[in-house]
Amino acid sequence: MSILDCAIIGGGPAGLTAGLYTTRGGLENVTMFEKGMPGGQIINSSEIENYPGVTGEITGMDLMMPWPAQCQKFGLKHEMVNVLRISKKGDLFTIHSEDGSTREAHSVILGTGSSPRKAGFTGEDKFFGKGVSTCATCDGFFYKGKEVAVIGGGDTALEEALYLAKICSKVYLVHRRESFRSAPNTIKRVKNTRNIELVLNSLLEEVYGDESGVTGVRVKNKSGVVYNIGVSGVFTFVGNDVNNQTLIQEDGSFLCDINKQGQVIVDISMRTSVPGLFATGDMRIAAPKQVISAAGDGAVAALQAISYVDEHLG
Ligand code: FAD
Ligand code: NAP
Repeated sequence: MSILDCAIIGGGPAGLTAGLYTTRGGLENVTMFEKGMPGGQIINSSEIENYPGVTGEITGMDLMMPWPAQCQKFGLKHEMVNVLRISKKGDLFTIHSEDGSTREAHSVILGTGSSPRKAGFTGEDKFFGKGVSTCATCDGFFYKGKEVAVIGGGDTALEEALYLAKICSKVYLVHRRESFRSAPNTIKRVKNTRNIELVLNSLLEEVYGDESGVTGVRVKNKSGVVYNIGVSGVFTFVGNDVNNQTLIQEDGSFLCDINKQGQVIVDISMRTSVPGLFATGDMRIAAPKQVISAAGDGAVAALQAISYVDEHLG
């Protein structure tokens, strides 16, 4: 197999934009490695209203739908594989995939984003997929007319609580502090929604149920009072962990520099500490964690990758 000009790892907004700009910018042999459906984590969002120029009620899935076809038009290839590791020997990178295949590339753009974090309560693993979920658009419908709990106090928890409130009879929004870390307008909408009940300064200790699924949760508040709430479903939105696993080498070291949170250290051109390796989107330091910024990073990295490949291959 021929050596790739550029390998793009991850097909979210960052990876897809990198795919568009590298191919349209003249790189001829570019493959995007994406383990699932292209689009990234935003396809789980019930509504996006801050992508410039896209107005009206639109889901994350709707927003991302045309992106892969636009890239393919300029020649981007897509392989549906889980990349396990990226290594570098001399000037060449090797992409090691779960299916046992390897590909070589002159440059690599990483855009593997982040994954939902576990909240850590008892029963979280036991009931995951059977009453505990991290995706309201995927699973909300199963709880039509029922009562559910949402855990978390960030933008995701509040936005998804609003979405669930349209389907479910009641949403208990359980947050460990008094104040939320979300956009003021979103907080206002949550507070004004009749069937969202705020359960503040409270930690979810346990999700329990029977063979039919979840029947309730045990919550403990700051004063140590423990109480039960009867719900059929629990949606956890407690942040994300960086997907940096592909950078881990056989000896356990990381291919490039990362910070204590596992975020990849880049300069303003998305260059990592390793020449020819770029990191974009939610996985990089100081990421604004927005679709627009991830897409912007993808474009910046692609332009850099084109220059890098031109310089190296002449
Ligand atoms: P991601 O979107 O995480 O994409 C990474 C991709 O890489 C995934 O498709 C994944 O399958 C793939 N991947 C990971 N590891 C591998 C591997 N080893 N091999 C192959 N493929 C791999 N932002 C906004 O601007 N507005 C919003 O309204 C908004 N709402 C949101 C609502 C929700 C519910 C969530 C979860 C996020 C929301 N965000 C929103 C944030 C936004 O989705 C992210 O900032 C953005 O998707 C980051 O893009 P990314 O390309 O960096 O990574
Ligand atoms: P986040 O901002 O990190 O918020 C996570 C929330 O979960 C926090 O409120 C945190 O509490 C709580 N939490 C963390 N661990 C917990 C645990 N073990 N038990 C209980 N609660 C726990 O994550 P996010 O809401 O997913 O947002 C991620 C990023 O994407 C943010 O930058 C966000 O702005 C962005 N985003 C943007 C939009 C938008 O622009 N419309 C939509 C969604 C997401 P504390 O507050 O006490 O820390």
